[in-house]
Amino acid sequence: MPTAAGPVLPVVLKHATKRKSASAQIREGAIEVTLPKHWLPSFQKKVTQDLCDRLQRQFQTDWQLVQKDQGPLISFDNPQRLTDWVTQLNQETLQVPLNGVRIGSSKYSRLAQMNTKTCWMTISRYCLDRVPESALRYLVIHELAHLKVPNHSPAFWSEVKAFVPHLRHQRRLIAAIHRIRLYEEATQSRLCLSQPPIEPPPSLSFKKPTPKPQKKKSLFRQLFLFGFD
Ligand SMILES: [Zn+2]
Repeated sequence: MPTAAGPVLPVVLKHATKRKSASAQIREGAIEVTLPKHWLPSFQKKVTQDLCDRLQRQFQTDWQLVQKDQGPLISFDNPQRLTDWVTQLNQETLQVPLNGVRIGSSKYSRLAQMNTKTCWMTISRYCLDRVPESALRYLVIHELAHLKVPNHSPAFWSEVKAFVPHLRHQRRLIAAIHRIRLYEEATQSRLCLSQPPIEPPPSLSFKKPTPKPQKKKSLFRQLFLFGFD
């Protein structure tokens, strides 16, 4: 059965004076495009369209992959439960000298990382929320294997492959989960922010802010708002 298409990401445009090239990324639930200010509007429009198309396609691929049945899902928000699960997996597989596991909360950090000096593993909380067990297993084994081989050399991958069937698929899946969970959280907080503000109690009075003069929108911004066709 085909999976339903995912939401279309909103686009945020930024202009930079010192930039020589354009870039785009998915951030806070939107596609953020940064363009050199000196480019002609028609060229900015074309580049923006190309970059957005590529990221929308990538987001749709992630979305569809995450919606498919990928086997049992698990979640961890308790570091002790996660440590127990990882410790058992380590005993069943690589048996490396792991010291501990922590849950990372940064939005901009990697999916997971291993400190090879302290032997502590950090896993992003965006990879621990309704994640297919097989994909989390891959992520943990990847990090454990860094205690045997610190870099991503062929020797490292053969350590991982020995315990992870369908390695490429699991790799794609965990990366997609990470991006989709970040998107979901950003969308959720945007919805919360758009709620009407709480009314102050009647005894308090606030000075009404003077309205700011409306800035004239640039031609490109107007074109963008009305679409490119
Ligand atoms: Zn690695």
